[in-house]
Amino acid sequence: MSHTLAAGKVGLFHYTLRDGEGNTIDSSDGKDPMVYLHGVGNIIPGLEKQLTGKTEGDVLDVVVPAAEAYGEASGEPPQAIPRDQFPADVPLQKGMGMRAQDAQGTPIMIFITDITDSHVLVTAEHPLAGKELHFHVEIVRIRDANENEIAHGHPHGPDGNADH
Ligand code: ZN
Repeated sequence: MSHTLAAGKVGLFHYTLRDGEGNTIDSSDGKDPMVYLHGVGNIIPGLEKQLTGKTEGDVLDVVVPAAEAYGEASGEPPQAIPRDQFPADVPLQKGMGMRAQDAQGTPIMIFITDITDSHVLVTAEHPLAGKELHFHVEIVRIRDANENEIAHGHPHGPDGNADH
């Protein structure tokens, strides 16, 4: 019986992610393949949609519009936050994402766009917002998810038995 990607399956795939100009943004080259549980939003919606029904050994090139990836860019300028409001022991880097809370105390992700001597510029927008993403994908393995993985909404490693 051959497996195809559908809800309740765990997929393992190698990928290269490029922007619209062909610059490589990220790749699993030289690393373990990406492992995800299909159908629960572990990966961006546009990629998950186009992987549906694909099988082991399939190689595909997928173009995902910004709206189905990290969303459209809002164009809102980043916010400047005094440096001393960040923990001193966390090395801050441009492009880095951190957990924070908005004014209502709701947990959000923020991303650092720039760092000056006195301030850190942050935005709630993902660095890839507004970008069309080009994926080259090779599906290396598909297996059934186990009960724990389905209950947790994520895979437990390539074989489903990893601790966490
Ligand atoms: Zn888990």
